[in-house]
Amino acid sequence: MRVFKFGGASVKDAEAVKNVASIIHNHDGKLVVVISAMGKVTNALEKVVNAYFYKKDNVAKCINEVKNYHLNIMQQLFAANHPVYVTVNNLFVEIEWTVEELPRSYSFVYDQIVAIGELVSTAIISAYLNDIGIKNEWVDARSCIQTDNNYREGNIDWELTNKLINEITASIFKQNQIIVTQGFIGGTSENYTTTLGREGSDYSAAIFAYCLNAENATIWKDVSGVLNADPKFFNDAQKLEQISYHDAIELSYYGATVIHPKTIKPLENKNIPLYVKSFLKPDSAGTIIGKDLKTKPFIPSCIFKSNQVLISIAATDFSFIAEDCLSKIFGVFAKAGCKINLMQNSAISFSVCVDNDMFILPELLTELSKDFRVLYNDNLVLYTIRHYNAFTLDQLTKDREILLEQRSRNTAQVVMRAVETEK
Ligand code: ASP
Ligand code: MG
Repeated sequence: MRVFKFGGASVKDAEAVKNVASIIHNHDGKLVVVISAMGKVTNALEKVVNAYFYKKDNVAKCINEVKNYHLNIMQQLFAANHPVYVTVNNLFVEIEWTVEELPRSYSFVYDQIVAIGELVSTAIISAYLNDIGIKNEWVDARSCIQTDNNYREGNIDWELTNKLINEITASIFKQNQIIVTQGFIGGTSENYTTTLGREGSDYSAAIFAYCLNAENATIWKDVSGVLNADPKFFNDAQKLEQISYHDAIELSYYGATVIHPKTIKPLENKNIPLYVKSFLKPDSAGTIIGKDLKTKPFIPSCIFKSNQVLISIAATDFSFIAEDCLSKIFGVFAKAGCKINLMQNSAISFSVCVDNDMFILPELLTELSKDFRVLYNDNLVLYTIRHYNAFTLDQLTKDREILLEQRSRNTAQVVMRAVETEK
């Protein structure tokens, strides 16, 4: 049993869907296919949510844009009387229902609406595969992946999810080799939809792989594998043939967008290898991620997170930042749901680098200012260099102001003012 995950770029138009079909066709044996929303549909659905919630734009117009995008793809894949048109239309009706109801929290509405992207893409692709003879069954991931009601970043109920995934897939696998399901989404005990955080389809694939003890999992991307830097910003980026789970976690946690950071742990727990391969060159090797794999080629990997803020926190009377202060500070961060990317303390101040999140930061700063002297710098960039050497560090920081720097044996991190291309 294997798991394949296809992201938005791999299913962005009718040609891309056909390419995905040929990759699936070339696979033998039981397979769970996890698919994201097509192209940039998640962003377009976020616009629908914002139009509805903040009355910024016309809701119907925003929904129509998403509908028409899919309609265009469907017209290239199906005859005019195909039942898939009704299925997809019914999914859009769900959005209309959500926006007609009394508004609930932003995150709740977000999840009910944005999840439609994955439901629609999988409905289309499953139908297309069946039409061309690749027999498969569509499964609603919301009845498999169970989460709490922490909307926009649902936490998995592993025990229940494990049970449901195994029950549901076992009965399907008796008749069918291929299951098509959605990435990114889950369901609550009250049957509401949750999402697992942006780009969370990789995580969904890992959840299925973990629960089903998959032989391996493959994430199909528009790049040749895991690269040692983002090719959009570094023109000499090189592909890594293999890396360890540990490296993969460090790289994705600090901003490598190739894999969602939550993906690795479930796979590592069961020692399931993860392949990252190009859907454009499905026969080339890609990158393999596994236990204790030594990075090959052994070169520094350089990633960055933009839109960072460096907050420096000190006691109002310049007393030391001791344990009781730290405990209070961490409490405020935890309560605000603010993830710390880098921290450093001196005798009288504690510095923290975090994402500039418009939902979280203002409240965090207000809360901290009640008890501490708080200063902050924004428009910063956090670089992480795994397996760094002096040369790469020098190149990167040459003529630039460093606000914070930290090194461990394998990783160097630097916070600098962002230049135009890093914003
Ligand atoms: N469609 C979702 C997003 O764009 C999930 C994913 O692609 O992984 O964030
Ligand atoms: Mg995506």
